[in-house]
Amino acid sequence: MTATTSATFSGFALPDELREVAGLVERFVRERIRPAEDAGDPAARELPEEVLAPLRTEAKSLGLWCFDTPERYGGAGLSAFETVVVLEQAAKHRFCFPHAGGGAFGHPPPVVVFRGTEEQIDRFARPAVAQGFRTFTAIAEPSGGTDPKRAIRTTAVRTGDTYVLNGRKQWITNAERARYGIVYARAEGGITAFLVDGDAEGLSTTTIPVLRDHWPTEMVLENVVVPVGNRIGEEGAGLTLAGDWLVRQRLSYAARALGIAEESVRLGIEWLQQRETFGVPLATRQSAQFDLAHARVAIDAGRWLTWDAAWTDDTGGDARTKAAMAKLHCTEAAFTIVDRMMQWFGALGMAKEMPLEHWFRDLRVARVVEGSSEILQVQIARQMLGPAARGGG
Ligand SMILES: Cc1cc2nc3c(=O)[nH]c(=O)nc-3n(C[C@H](O)[C@H](O)[C@H](O)COP(=O)(O)OP(=O)(O)OC[C@H]3O[C@@H](n4cnc5c(N)ncnc54)[C@H](O)[C@@H]3O)c2cc1C
Repeated sequence: MTATTSATFSGFALPDELREVAGLVERFVRERIRPAEDAGDPAARELPEEVLAPLRTEAKSLGLWCFDTPERYGGAGLSAFETVVVLEQAAKHRFCFPHAGGGAFGHPPPVVVFRGTEEQIDRFARPAVAQGFRTFTAIAEPSGGTDPKRAIRTTAVRTGDTYVLNGRKQWITNAERARYGIVYARAEGGITAFLVDGDAEGLSTTTIPVLRDHWPTEMVLENVVVPVGNRIGEEGAGLTLAGDWLVRQRLSYAARALGIAEESVRLGIEWLQQRETFGVPLATRQSAQFDLAHARVAIDAGRWLTWDAAWTDDTGGDARTKAAMAKLHCTEAAFTIVDRMMQWFGALGMAKEMPLEHWFRDLRVARVVEGSSEILQVQIARQMLGPAARGGG
């Protein structure tokens, strides 16, 4: 038997240009963002605006801006693959959730906006990129987040050239200070995505304190009038559009979890080498060595899962299950790695002068949002089992 193929394998090495961009981001985080975070109040919940503003200007001048937003709309225009490589480096600092760089690299508008018309992109996406302001995405409701198809109760009733939105959204990140966001509501034709101004009449938000430092909000929509021109796609297309957004969000979570895990390991190695108990460095303890070895294997495996999923997305494949695998593995592994490194740091691991306790809380949340670990497993298993898996809801 002879095996012939015309395909060539160019190896796992990253292209020089991409390595340079990733290196530039890594340096920016190490030299500009981490010192700014370390110099601040250890109890701070984010970088203050006066510290963030010059970092943002500097990052933008270096072209490190809205990484995955197309260049023609003012972003860096990176592919999904390039974005995950860069985001891993961009996350190696304390306040990397929910925005890499704490917002220093801009706030890319949700990819769903780019599925809208050119007029919608001009009106909503371009200003967000140019001015670096935040947006929100409102899917979850008090009735549930993992199963939006059934849980969404917010209604959108069309009357002439407008829709009237009524309902209650819960756990919505950034809604209290976003200029606009995307609200998923039930219209006659099904769940539909609407661009809604943050200061629209009838829209109000209340902050919900949670474990993570960046608190989400409850959003009430009471007779909020939205022009038909703010509907993205057709009625009923909402969840397909949200699925698109979820692939990118899950890849972003996976890549940032990898960055945190690498950084935790770097801190852990330094500590294990110099901290002594009972007359010898902690590095001599086999249990510490095993923790590091497990971390190395989990991080490298997670990187391949993430790169493969992003590559599949870039090359037109269906990346939904692969992105689910990447997010599941990377957030769960990073949480365990941070936990183990905190343990080796002892009391210092709990202190707010270290970033570890902050990451621990962010990663705890990361295991629930943008696809909980359970729902990602359901998605992966369903793809394996096919129709036999149906029926469990
Ligand atoms: C800090 C924070 C920020 C957030 N930001 C946003 C945001 O910006 N926009 C937004 O729309 N939402 C946001 N969310 C909401 C988030 O997406 C939801 O919390 C998440 O989807 C889970 O939904 P739920 O909390 O309603 O849990 P439920 O859907 O009620 O599920 C409860 C539990 O059951 C598990 N479960 C559900 N179904 C199954 C099943 N079939 N098999 C096994 N286990 C299952 C789930 O994994 C979960 O652990 C945020 C949440 C938090 C905590």
